[in-house]
Amino acid sequence: MAISVDSKQNLKVKTLIKCMQCDYTQERDFQVGDFVLKLVGNCPKDNGPLYIAGIYAESITPKK
Ligand SMILES: [Zn+2]
Repeated sequence: MAISVDSKQNLKVKTLIKCMQCDYTQERDFQVGDFVLKLVGNCPKDNGPLYIAGIYAESITPKK
C-alpha cells in the first residue's frame, strides 16, 4: 500500500473497523499506530472484538 500521509493532495486517510462477530462497521480518521487486523476495542452491539479491516485514502475533492 502506498499512502503518503503528509501529501499535499486532498486525501484523507481513513480506518475501517469491523466486528468479528456481527456486521457492525465503523469508520474513523486514521491514527498513528493503526494497522490492518489490529484489535481496537469492543463492539457496541454485542461486545465482540473490533479489528481494523482496512486503511485507505479517501479523496475529498469538492466536486459533486
Ligand atoms: Zn458486533
